[in-house]
Amino acid sequence: MTNQVIEDISLAEQSNEISHVIGIMSGKGGVGKSLVTGLLAVALRKAGYSVGILDADITGPSIPKMFGLTSRPEMSELGIFPIETPSGIRVISINLLLDSPDSPVIWRGPMISNTVTQFWKDVFWGKLDYLLVDLPPGTSDVPLTVMQSLPINGVVVVTSPQDLAAMVVRKAVNMCTQMKVPILGLVQNMAYMKCPGCADVIYPFGNTNGQSVADQMGIPYLLDMPIDPEISARSDAGTIEGYGDNMLVDKVDLITSGLKVVSHAKNHSCCGGGKRNTGECNEGDCCCK
Ligand code: ADP
Repeated sequence: MTNQVIEDISLAEQSNEISHVIGIMSGKGGVGKSLVTGLLAVALRKAGYSVGILDADITGPSIPKMFGLTSRPEMSELGIFPIETPSGIRVISINLLLDSPDSPVIWRGPMISNTVTQFWKDVFWGKLDYLLVDLPPGTSDVPLTVMQSLPINGVVVVTSPQDLAAMVVRKAVNMCTQMKVPILGLVQNMAYMKCPGCADVIYPFGNTNGQSVADQMGIPYLLDMPIDPEISARSDAGTIEGYGDNMLVDKVDLITSGLKVVSHAKNHSCCGGGKRNTGECNEGDCCCK
């Protein structure tokens, strides 16, 4: 490593020790990607891991609200300190830095990508077993750049049982394959609803089985998650950590075993902010052009 590259690495980045970075992605917005990020963080924390969430969904940041976070992160010229949820999940999100959570972020793609890279390089994450990255939805320039700039070891894909969602999620899966980022599994959210007061199960978006969607794409299947009014009530109230029926709790071993044991002892961003090589690296490696 040249002296120039060492100088480019921020103090926060030098002191962080993040063992695994998991991206949560979806083909389109509104399928529950942020919810899955939040519930997976809660599940990993319950399993005893140290966990952080980097909210890279800059134009639709819903993580702080879900956890009831409103305090402003402390900042020094050396870096930014994440805010902790009651159970100790460290969170950074643009909504914690705006004057009002209702302020829109009207930025072009490169500015969004730079902010996400800054959340990686200039935040004092400390020692984390898992950093979850709530990726921007879709396969446009922004999620692509974010995925290229962060050393993501594996991706959880979220979809809902609609043809449109399945079609766009295939694009997301193909993007990961081309970038040689391993897919840890598929969550089909909003798959069904339990009838209140009767034993029936309702399929509001059609009865598509998540397992068959995952099989068609050749990726591991994780679970079908129901629409649950308690989820939306808790997301609105900021109490998602208290949700008792978190089905991801039983999937922690499956998800974590899918990750190669890649230890980023000194967790430098890919190529000092450069681009991940999409052609010649091994799966999960962060290597440079
Ligand atoms: P995305 O990140 O894909 O845009 P969100 O995770 O922000 O989607 O979810 C969109 C909205 O739908 C949120 O208000 C969330 O609470 C709600 N929601 C998502 N999944 C469920 C579910 N399984 N049951 C009830 N509400 C849900």
